Amino acid sequence: MRLQGKVAVATGVCGGIGLSIVRKLVNEGARVVAVDLSQESLDKLQKDYGDEVVTVAADVTRYDQVEAMIQKAVDHFGQVDILINNAGIASPKPLLEHDPDKDFDGITAVNQKGVYHGILAAGKAMKKQGRGGVIINTSSVYGTMASELSFTYNVSKAAVDMMTKCAALEYGPQKIRVCAVAPGRVDTPMLHQYKDIGLWDHIKREQMRNEFTQPEEIADVIAFLASDEANCINGTTVSAGDGFESF
Ligand code: NAD
Repeated sequence: MRLQGKVAVATGVCGGIGLSIVRKLVNEGARVVAVDLSQESLDKLQKDYGDEVVTVAADVTRYDQVEAMIQKAVDHFGQVDILINNAGIASPKPLLEHDPDKDFDGITAVNQKGVYHGILAAGKAMKKQGRGGVIINTSSVYGTMASELSFTYNVSKAAVDMMTKCAALEYGPQKIRVCAVAPGRVDTPMLHQYKDIGLWDHIKREQMRNEFTQPEEIADVIAFLASDEANCINGTTVSAGDGFESF
């Protein structure tokens, strides 16, 4: 129970990795504000939990809604110790087919600005509390690797890596750590888009273990980074890509 007594806010909780994050945080003793877009999906998630989880429907592209989800932790549980900025979207598409009015801004708004919103709102609340905190951002190995069909996604995750470093530097004096985890290919609805474009078997063969990472494995890394066991890890992105990103 490494997170006993802690209060965490996590976004994108109705997706593959997010569901595992909530389960892991609760199993480690945390109370959780679980955030996603649809209240209907959140109500389904809530059925698996008791008073240790409260749900908030919020869109991370909206700063007022991100501020409200952080405030919910303070109002409902009395504090906020951990933020997991996990919400993200991907939409594989060749760069030459981009619509300049849609394709860049759509992904950037969620993956980049959404994380910025979380870092800012949680930083302000944690500073006010004066007892430190931890912010964990879900990046991707594609924040440092080039790949086809995911120009804007990769750029957004590179931005997440840099926001992680810069925020850690600015928040250090407040004892607020900021880290990121970089999954590779995790078996979630997001990855299943590659089935639709016929690349599923190809990307599976590239995996070191010849299988995709499971969402629970990413939640394990996130819980470790959020715990005091990771107190000396700050301002960095921890690679959790099964190793294929190293070659
Ligand atoms: P997913 O599609 O299963 O879940 C994403 C969740 O984010 C969904 O529940 C969705 O409703 C929510 N969401 C989307 N836009 C939102 C918004 N504006 N506000 C609030 N919530 C929003 O995807 P996943 O695979 O679980 O991805 C989780 C994170 O992991 C993302 O940041 C993603 O980029 C990252 N990641 C995933 C993989 C992978 O292979 N699946 C690899 C590397 C990184």
